[in-house]
Amino acid sequence: MASPWQQRIQRAHELASIHAFAAEILGFYADVAKFQGELHVRLLAAFPVRSASAEMRHELSPELSPAELSELTPRFEPFLSLAETHGPKALAELSRELRARGKDSWSGLLQATWAAHSPSDAQTFLALAFLQPYAELLRSLASLRPRQQTHAVCPFCNRKPSLGVMRQMGDGAARSLICSFCLAEWQFRRLVCPGCGEENDKKLPVFTASDFDYIRVECCDSCNTYIKTVDLTKNGHAEPIVDELASAPLDLWARDRGYAKLQSNLLGM
Ligand SMILES: [Zn+2]
Ligand SMILES: [Zn+2]
Repeated sequence: MASPWQQRIQRAHELASIHAFAAEILGFYADVAKFQGELHVRLLAAFPVRSASAEMRHELSPELSPAELSELTPRFEPFLSLAETHGPKALAELSRELRARGKDSWSGLLQATWAAHSPSDAQTFLALAFLQPYAELLRSLASLRPRQQTHAVCPFCNRKPSLGVMRQMGDGAARSLICSFCLAEWQFRRLVCPGCGEENDKKLPVFTASDFDYIRVECCDSCNTYIKTVDLTKNGHAEPIVDELASAPLDLWARDRGYAKLQSNLLGM
């Protein structure tokens, strides 16, 4: 069976052949996903799964241990090389600069990114893309405790979701949100803004466009944010993370209307 990364890579190639405007960014994403999948395998070997239930985590630790940092830091260099060779121009230049700064600066950046809850600059997004497979690995080994809350943050790492998905549930469709970092997925009521908890449906307009009729742009007129939700009941072939990336024109559209994205995706878009 294909790994989640292989499935995302395949979908990236599929979408690139349909949407020429997104081909470059999807090509870069496919390179990143390939690296992430390989890193996941290496990290799994480096940190054997502890079986004792006492070790089971419920939340992501707020910082990387010295052992984790020494395992991760040297692996950041090949990732920077990849971004330097295959990334968009600005990211390639940044990666070259970061590579020249050396190991001490990398471990500082990785530690700071691990603790950052609202990434905004390009180097944090770059480090985030590198760290994501490790956050995802830890989350897959954790037992998540469901929370009751209106303001939607990830139950494992407390970060904001970068997209939503709709899945078939009984006769209808239920919405869940996907964490921007560890990719945890948790259910969240459909008619509630994940940014501010607004429940008045008149203030929660939903838009779609014919190019991406299975992606909902869910806006909130109270906090002026939006999140894109991939409706898997309308398109079962979608890989939500990848389709979210490919539908960048919807982001331009929402921003033109004064809505800010609740949380940028892994490529800072
Ligand atoms: Zn998370
Ligand atoms: Zn809101």
